[in-house]
Amino acid sequence: MHAPQLDRLVPEYIKRFEPYIPSKPDNELKKLYGCKRLLRLNNNENPLGPPPAARDVIDGFPPPAASVYPSGDAYYLRYKLAEKFGLHPDQFLVGNGANEVITFVIKAFCQEGDNIVTADKTFAVYEWVAEFSGFDARLVPLKDFGFDDAGMLRTIDNRTKLIFVCNPNNPTGTYWSREKLLRFLDVVDGRQIVVLDEAYFEFVEKEDFPDGMALMESYPNLVVFRTFSKMYALAGLRIGYLAGSREVVDIIRRTCVVYSVNSLAQQAALATLEDGEHITRTRRMVREGRNFLERELGRLELSFVSGEGNYLMLRLPMSDTLAYRKFMTRGIMIRSMTGFRFPNYIRITISHMEAMEAFIEALEAILAEMPDRRP
Ligand SMILES: *Cc1c(COP(=O)(O)O)cnc(C)c1O
Repeated sequence: MHAPQLDRLVPEYIKRFEPYIPSKPDNELKKLYGCKRLLRLNNNENPLGPPPAARDVIDGFPPPAASVYPSGDAYYLRYKLAEKFGLHPDQFLVGNGANEVITFVIKAFCQEGDNIVTADKTFAVYEWVAEFSGFDARLVPLKDFGFDDAGMLRTIDNRTKLIFVCNPNNPTGTYWSREKLLRFLDVVDGRQIVVLDEAYFEFVEKEDFPDGMALMESYPNLVVFRTFSKMYALAGLRIGYLAGSREVVDIIRRTCVVYSVNSLAQQAALATLEDGEHITRTRRMVREGRNFLERELGRLELSFVSGEGNYLMLRLPMSDTLAYRKFMTRGIMIRSMTGFRFPNYIRITISHMEAMEAFIEALEAILAEMPDRRP
């Protein structure tokens, strides 16, 4: 048997693409770094866990239900979302995490020679999906750590199909105000699909922060992403969705593979929408954690970027990949930012106070080990 002729079989854009390497399971990491506990501050997970109603659904999930295929179009969840946002159920498309709906949108609109426009330092999945699908990802540099609207408008050409705006941006926490977003949408004027990734929507309390769901009526080229992974703490069940005008969602739906969203995820997600207290409690925790971190980082004279969402980015006087290993040996998993094109920066998830104190303690110990650092 001959080896497959990979040189001929594999497209050039796949050969060029560097695969993402996921981190090992926690238990393997603990063995590798010799730590007893592991605090996960790397993925913007909510340490409070899912809201009570969703916990009840997970606890009560009947094992025989696992043998039956889920609803192929998340029927009840879409009806519930429609009711919550005052939209039609056909304006929603549920996926295996918001990550999956990114692939739906790109498949639906891009063909050979097309491009997408986004920022250079943002959630990387837009760029990755475009590139491993053979489309050009045009990355506009951030300006003052935020998405540069003018720069993006200059970068758009007649082969640009999609514009991805992460609002608030992961990892910088910056956001476009309602006014800025509307101005941008007015200029784009239906020539592209504008995707507004609102993965952290539920964390934001700012008055001028726009709600994509409320803009759908006026801007039928707007597509909004939301997820149950972050605020609602269902990251392990993998469920997120997009919303848009009926015409646009009708197009995107053609590219989605049914049954990618499991039954338990659909039911648990539905239950999260019942709960009001959960958001309040989580926001309080994030506010408290952020205040503490800002104060402590100021005391340590480290520069940081802190905005919306449940994360904060800080700059270290050492390589971020080295810092990652040093934190790991102390049982703390952070996100090194070289992959986000922010060398020497790390991003941490804002968690409960105990975790934040452990992080600062580890950070101080790591800084103290540096020979050339002033006390
Ligand atoms: C976490 C995240 C997502 C993806 O979330 P899923 O877990 O795939 O639902 C999408 N966009 C941003 C900005 C994120 O941070």
